[in-house]
Amino acid sequence: MSTSIFSRIIDREIPADIVLETDRMIAFRDIAPKAAVHILVVPKTEDYANVVELAAGDPQLLAELVATAQQIAEEHANGEFRLIFNTGPSSGQTVFHVHAHVLSGALEEGSLGR
Ligand code: AMP
Repeated sequence: MSTSIFSRIIDREIPADIVLETDRMIAFRDIAPKAAVHILVVPKTEDYANVVELAAGDPQLLAELVATAQQIAEEHANGEFRLIFNTGPSSGQTVFHVHAHVLSGALEEGSLGR
């Protein structure tokens, strides 16, 4: 079974700018930021490849992820944020270990999809 790049960050095998960690969740800055604040929120389990699997398999963990996104937006911006879950290769997903992109910081109206 392969280990995802995010599990390697969790295990401290590769470095990342970690901003928050709990027993079930980790959050770190995206290496290629698309906004002033661009942080990935990642459940530590790699049992779920995407948000659809997570919602079906552990809705409580999904709720925890959303609450973590809110906390991050409050700590790093004004509490408002865009939450993105790429789901499948044709949506742009490249890491198949469920994660949310938290984008925040003066996003322009209509900027989604740019
Ligand atoms: P996705 O394309 O939705 O699967 O998102 C994967 C994200 O992980 C991309 O935005 C990448 O820039 C980001 N990424 C890949 N490797 C790293 C890394 N080592 N540290 C931080 N972010 C990463």
